[in-house]
Amino acid sequence: MSHTSFKVGRLTCHALEAGRQALDGGAMFGVVPKPLWERRIAPDARNRIPLALRCLLVEHDDGLVLVDTGIGNKEDAKFRDIYAVDNEGAGGRTRLEDTLAELGHTPADVRWVINTHLHFDHAGGNTYREAVDGGGGDAGGAIRIAFPRATYVVQRRELEFARHTNERTAASYLAPNFAPVPFTLVDGAAEPLPGIRCLPTPGHVPYHQSVLVESAGERACFLADLVPTTAHLPLPWIMGYDLEPLVTLESKRRLYARAEADGWLLCFEHDPTVVAGRLGREGKAFGLVDPLGAG
Ligand SMILES: [Zn+2]
Repeated sequence: MSHTSFKVGRLTCHALEAGRQALDGGAMFGVVPKPLWERRIAPDARNRIPLALRCLLVEHDDGLVLVDTGIGNKEDAKFRDIYAVDNEGAGGRTRLEDTLAELGHTPADVRWVINTHLHFDHAGGNTYREAVDGGGGDAGGAIRIAFPRATYVVQRRELEFARHTNERTAASYLAPNFAPVPFTLVDGAAEPLPGIRCLPTPGHVPYHQSVLVESAGERACFLADLVPTTAHLPLPWIMGYDLEPLVTLESKRRLYARAEADGWLLCFEHDPTVVAGRLGREGKAFGLVDPLGAG
């Protein structure tokens, strides 16, 4: 089973395991010393830590809503080795499509795709490379929209930001993941469909958003790279990748106040084992209670 199902009020949600990647542990934990972070997530021989590529699927009255799309199938062997990408699915697509199939859906059934931001490990599956002679990956086919009947949603200024990279940001924003996509753009806090809210949570990138699902008084928040794993729950445990770490700090503080007051379920996109849980305290620091493991 590569999905974990849970209810938010009347809405059925599924955390979809779209594969794995591994990123440098030092870069993932910023200024946190290795002796501290390696107790939370052990690195491999190349100092990389294993990370999930977890997406959220919501069965909404207006159709299936997918939040983030994993890495996709367009990258070459060198890229897949550097990031230890492990996401191959059936028919040359990815495990994201496999998990949809497990639930009885095809990509054409998805009516909304919301991108938290446009980094390759969040938007890579927005598009896919068609197989030529049955091969996937670097086989060189045409690039197509992965969810052809979906309305794709992203922050207007995140799309601008992705289109105008510099030396620091270019490696994360790969044009084939967003250039062919006919986005519907939102500005700041938005509710693209009832009970599905875009919450600006800047810091990782300036126009990063988390997604809040609300139904019948219950709430779940897909945090994305605001808090990529449960190890990042303590306020100062912030990724070295973040462009504005002090802004991340304030975004976390603001979101935690609401999450704690209203008992939000928090969903982790990259945690290797924990899908979701509620905010708790570990001494003075924030931690997790009622963890929900991957299926
Ligand atoms: Zn990420």
